Amino acid sequence: MTRFAAVAFLLILAASPATAQDRPATASTLQRNFEAMVFDATVEVLPWSPFRRWREEVRAVLIGEGSEAFAPHLRALFGEFEALTGIRFTLSESDSAATVEIVFARRDWYLGAAARSFTEPERVQCFSNTVMGGQGWMLSGFVVIPDDLPRREVEVCLAHEMMHILGFSGHPSRTFSSVLRNGNAPSALTINDRILLRAFYDPELRAGMLHEEMFAASQRILRTLRDAVMRSDDAMAVLTQRRRVNDWLPDAPPA
Ligand SMILES: [Zn+2]
Repeated sequence: MTRFAAVAFLLILAASPATAQDRPATASTLQRNFEAMVFDATVEVLPWSPFRRWREEVRAVLIGEGSEAFAPHLRALFGEFEALTGIRFTLSESDSAATVEIVFARRDWYLGAAARSFTEPERVQCFSNTVMGGQGWMLSGFVVIPDDLPRREVEVCLAHEMMHILGFSGHPSRTFSSVLRNGNAPSALTINDRILLRAFYDPELRAGMLHEEMFAASQRILRTLRDAVMRSDDAMAVLTQRRRVNDWLPDAPPA
């Protein structure tokens, strides 16, 4: 079984500035937004619907004129993803075995593509799509960004859409500091994003868990990670993933 999921970063004008101080939200706020981000609230999800993660290396390729200008920025972002997930990330300008395509598209092409997936394409700043196998292993994905966006908007799109590609299909609340917030989102991962991503790729969460079991486990994981971050002055050292999800699952992903 293969499922497609299209998600978008909505262009919503908001006035509130991002907070200067990046501190983790409370444990219960982290948990609430984790649940909202793991499953898309706009589609019907059953208690046993699988959550979606990568277990293999993520091989990304940049496509489109001007896309190479964002390679250094993406490599830095991928470095963070690699540390937090324990999954390897590569980026190149040509890779026939790429599993993630990051496409910078001309505006007219972009509008046509957005109109096929969304009812209000003019509100969609950029979007992504993923393909997953039967047990919730992510197989491939793509990100589409119009090539006329200002640099900062592109960086917001890259962080936001890559979080979807990594498996978060939903969005947090409007007040939660996260690159996945719709409208007025930061362009760099926040401490909340780092904690949630690290928790999502924790080997204690297993494919096949019911939501209830998964969320009970994530509650413990999130509280432990948050406590460790609060006690440390080097959050990334605390949050670096030391075990990979693969180590726990001997079965090969379904093709
Ligand atoms: Zn989104």
